[in-house]
Amino acid sequence: MMNIEAKPGRAPHAPAQDMAARAHIDAETYERMYRESITDCDGFWGEQGKRLDWIKPFEAVKNTDFTLGKVSIEWFRDGTLNVAQNCIDRHLATRAEQTAIIWEPDDPADPAKHITYRDLHREVSRLANVLESLGVSRGDRVVIYLPMIPEAAYAMLACARIGAIHSVVFAGFSPDALGARINGCDAKLVITADEAPRGGRKTALKTNTDQALLHCNEGVKCLMVRRTGAQTTWVEGRDFDYGALMAEAEDHSEPAEMNAEDPLFILYTSGSTGQPKGVVHSSGGYLVYAAMTHQITFDYHDGDVFWCSADVGWVTGHSYIVYGPLANGATTVMFEGVPTWPDASRFWEVCEKHKVNQFYTAPTAIRALMGHGATPVEKHDLSALRLLGTVGEPINPEAWNWYNEVVGKGRCPIVDTWWQTETGGHLITPLPGATALKPGSATKPFFGVQPVVLDPQSGAVIEETEAEGVLAIADSWPGQMRTIWGDHERFEQTYFSQYPGYYFSGDGCRRDADGDYWITGRVDDVINVSGHRMGTAEVESALVAHAKVAEAAVVGYPHEIKGQGIYCYVTLMNGVEPSEELRKELRQWVRQEIGPIASPDLIQWAPGLPKTRSGKIMRRILRKIAENDYGSLGDTSTLADPSVVDELIDNRMNRG
Ligand code: ATP
Ligand code: MG
Repeated sequence: MMNIEAKPGRAPHAPAQDMAARAHIDAETYERMYRESITDCDGFWGEQGKRLDWIKPFEAVKNTDFTLGKVSIEWFRDGTLNVAQNCIDRHLATRAEQTAIIWEPDDPADPAKHITYRDLHREVSRLANVLESLGVSRGDRVVIYLPMIPEAAYAMLACARIGAIHSVVFAGFSPDALGARINGCDAKLVITADEAPRGGRKTALKTNTDQALLHCNEGVKCLMVRRTGAQTTWVEGRDFDYGALMAEAEDHSEPAEMNAEDPLFILYTSGSTGQPKGVVHSSGGYLVYAAMTHQITFDYHDGDVFWCSADVGWVTGHSYIVYGPLANGATTVMFEGVPTWPDASRFWEVCEKHKVNQFYTAPTAIRALMGHGATPVEKHDLSALRLLGTVGEPINPEAWNWYNEVVGKGRCPIVDTWWQTETGGHLITPLPGATALKPGSATKPFFGVQPVVLDPQSGAVIEETEAEGVLAIADSWPGQMRTIWGDHERFEQTYFSQYPGYYFSGDGCRRDADGDYWITGRVDDVINVSGHRMGTAEVESALVAHAKVAEAAVVGYPHEIKGQGIYCYVTLMNGVEPSEELRKELRQWVRQEIGPIASPDLIQWAPGLPKTRSGKIMRRILRKIAENDYGSLGDTSTLADPSVVDELIDNRMNRG
């Protein structure tokens, strides 16, 4: 690890003030700006583009085409800039001594680090020089397979500085998954660490990398950060020591002049629905969008401490730990650990310790912590918190209310942000101070985003305000992905072919009488019971609202009479015993909550559910098991714990 001295924390933040009074955007401004962003798209985004420092200012703003066969997305295409310069150098004149990154290690007994913008500039410049010395140049791909340590951010930014394209691979992935991604983008270099500590355990990243590299091109080099100091194997000529090269590297590195449309990174989707896709994001449009959404959605103000608890291996970490916050000159928290180790108060301890003002996490984490009750939260002073956010899946109202009351004490707006790896930043989200919140609704579109609800069969736009169908977007926004790496054809097929002329999100949604959007889950998670279409998320919400249920996943399975039956996997709260009585009780409960049509046909007790590494339930696997067709489960490489699958198969309820 780099030797950066711990600096004292910032002064305590003033107590929360009335949100509406200080928010960047109020309801009226939202309406006006939203209208403007649609009717004068070039004017609006031309203005927003000025958030960045451009080497050569752009003249063109939007050049996009959603037509199948010639899909092309370009923003600010004649402008040039450097992303690292925008995230670091331009802040030096005013905030060199301000903390850019607060790093909180896995083990609370170890000291946190406060990395200033000046520190960041030095580390990233040196690393840029190291990368060049290893033969990496503009346009080359670099795979980053690191723990949640500052070096992960340095590596991303050093790539950006020299114009190399990074592809971050989550440190929880296996050697196979890593190897596939190194080969997938034909990377020249892998940056890794000896080990990744997480939740008190250690993953041998270097060993995994060694294994992955057995299946890769011989020329691929490896740069290793010493995180724990563990012994590792060493291949002379292939492996390089981060600390040694950094110690010798020069402090100066000139940021490369990149085109707005040059790829900044490749990132694979979570793999919830199928084979992960290598999503390509741009330099200019992506950064404008990440910076703007970070500032507006989270109502970030100078001096705030912002914490997004995601991993940099996911897009959430890219846009809201690294690029958005640093482009805005923010102080961003990077957390190496997990929410439940050493105990369930870890998140709240970190919030208190670093006086976090905005906290952004996933429903899966909230539900897990909810299971431990209010005590771990109440032990800590969370008075600096001003806003809470969630992302990743629909948040059930039960979890929303807990988050709001127990964590936010009813005074922090919750932004339920709907977006995807593909979208680069938030597309549908409340804005604090402007939007009336509804537990479970992502509410309104962000500026420039035109959601439409399509009839799933005909593809026709449903014009009525109240609508239910598939969620698509009618026109481009700057943060949109540009292509799938090496496969533009698949890009067009995946997102633009099913509903021509629209970007198809793959998610279903409902729009209520107020025009607020409710994401109902993946389109293929909609089930049809006796002719009634319902989102599985709704049944899950009802189940989770029962006091004895910790988590639930619902899928359809073929049913002779109803067409599809409702199959529920239920994880009970700690200490609750499964029983036939309880099955009956849950059935009755769902009938009461939603109606007889939603009554579960089969309920399987599930001590664990198959989840992706980002915490999403892999329903396609559960669907296979429910259909009694578990022979071909498809790509399971992104599963967090493959062993839960066998347990579920053994105890399946449908053996017909
Ligand atoms: P893959 O595309 O490989 O199947 P994935 O869709 O899980 O994986 P991500 O890009 O990480 O990969 O996740 C985006 C998806 O997460 C969205 O399409 C949506 O289904 C879900 N999602 C994200 N945020 C929200 C939210 N606030 N409310 C509801 N769903 C959300
Ligand atoms: Mg997806």
